[in-house]
Amino acid sequence: MEANEKNSVLIVDDERSNLAVLNKLLSGEYTVLTAKSGEEALKRVRENLPDLMLLDIMMPGMSGFDVLTRLKEYEDTKNIPVIVITGLDSEDDEERGFFLGAVDYITKPFKNAIVAARVRTHMKIVRQMRTIEMLGLIDPLTGISNRRGFDNRIDIDWRKCARDRSPISFLMMDLDKFKAYNDTYGHPQGDALLRAVAGIFSAAARRPSDLAARLGGEEFGVLLPDTDAEGALAIAELIRSRVEALRLPAADGSGTTSATISIGLVSTVPQENESFRDFISKADENLYTAKNSGRNRICRGEIGIETAAL
Ligand code: GH3
Ligand code: MG
Ligand code: MG
Repeated sequence: MEANEKNSVLIVDDERSNLAVLNKLLSGEYTVLTAKSGEEALKRVRENLPDLMLLDIMMPGMSGFDVLTRLKEYEDTKNIPVIVITGLDSEDDEERGFFLGAVDYITKPFKNAIVAARVRTHMKIVRQMRTIEMLGLIDPLTGISNRRGFDNRIDIDWRKCARDRSPISFLMMDLDKFKAYNDTYGHPQGDALLRAVAGIFSAAARRPSDLAARLGGEEFGVLLPDTDAEGALAIAELIRSRVEALRLPAADGSGTTSATISIGLVSTVPQENESFRDFISKADENLYTAKNSGRNRICRGEIGIETAAL
């Protein structure tokens, strides 16, 4: 579906009159496709991959329940939302519909406005899911923002803080000796640690404008708009100490594992003509200093490099 195209709905019903009423109701807002049997419905779905389906249950031959089951078997059709619209009004039938993966259940006789509203709601969810997937802003392993999400946000926040003459801070963070952790406990356990520390970062980035992101491998960032050096240092120290205190059960049952993190901190009031890239490089330098001066510490360079092991 292109951004400017109408969303499409496939209506499946063996009664011509129902098809006609629903078609009339929805064709203003959506591209409507129709099918008069379960078999025809599956064929239509394959050909057109509609954004959403309205599915009758009682049809000669293949029932709507059979159609639902078949849709869920294929990768390209299993996520198409299906609204059941049926004369079967028992709770058991409704439960079966939901169990088979329907997103909604409407009983006949239906009220036009309610069908239209429910279709609109589910279509909105379809569009939101597409946006999220298309933008690809979330790191699948940890569920926090990825590098792309971070790049988008820092660009906006940097300019906003420059306009407002407001401070902005950034923590560049890297797990210490993570290669050894992986080698000792295995890669899946390493992944579990990445998820756990990501949870610590998001919890520490409390304000809605704060952003925790996975920037690559075992490197993370926390962006703190409207936060000065002292505020950022408090958050960095909270993160450092929580990672140090974290205990994860070892996958091999041999007890618990622990880890530490090094943090490079930078704070500034951005100038209109300055690029945030130097700001990020400075955080990188400070992180490097933190690593070289013993790890498990925070470094912030103000004028020259001041090493603060706290
Ligand atoms: P330092 O304290 O200097 O940062 O040492 P280090 O061992 O953490 O640094 P190095 O960059 O040598 O190692 C990073 C390791 O991170 C190596 C790589 O296999 C691991 N890694 C990167 N991405 C992932 C991931 O998604 N999952 C797991 N389990 N490990 C990862
Ligand atoms: Mg590391
Ligand atoms: Mg590294």
